[in-house]
Amino acid sequence: MNKIKLATVWLDGCSGCHMSFLDMDERLLELSTQFDLVYSPLVDFKVYPEKVDVALVEGAVSSVEDEHKVRHIRARTTLLVAMGDCAVTGNVPAMRNPFGPLPILDRAYHQNACAQQQTPCSIVPALLEKVRPVHELVEVDLFLPGCPPSADTFFSVLTDLLAGTVPNVSSLTRFGV
Ligand code: SF4
Repeated sequence: MNKIKLATVWLDGCSGCHMSFLDMDERLLELSTQFDLVYSPLVDFKVYPEKVDVALVEGAVSSVEDEHKVRHIRARTTLLVAMGDCAVTGNVPAMRNPFGPLPILDRAYHQNACAQQQTPCSIVPALLEKVRPVHELVEVDLFLPGCPPSADTFFSVLTDLLAGTVPNVSSLTRFGV
């Protein structure tokens, strides 16, 4: 049996969606016979493959690096899932939008720093003016709301996707599929 190539992606989120994914516990072992996890913060692969069947994307798009990453992933993925409220609506990361990035950086790296106050100009990716949900940058095939989506939801959705059907999440989502 050909295994589905599955990726999980971490943009601007707290990793809680990935923790909930892991909360499937032994059910994850059951599902894992049907997929290869080809890219994820949970595994060591650092290069996104050319062709991925399903990508679960956690987090909003907050930085130049996030934007580049999500466009790169979209181009190489058949079915892209916005996983969790940060990916679906912007949620917590988007709370900085009324202020803009400069006051946020000032707060984090100057006002709240005890020593060596300076705004990083390398390594830390530049912030976008506005935090945006994933669908404002690239086409999203499936919205999976929740903060985080429950382990039961992950199990139900992944079971359907691995069976080759699009899950009915209309009872879960405010946006439909
Ligand atoms: Fe964390 Fe909630 Fe955002 Fe998921 S949706 S990354 S749990 S804040």
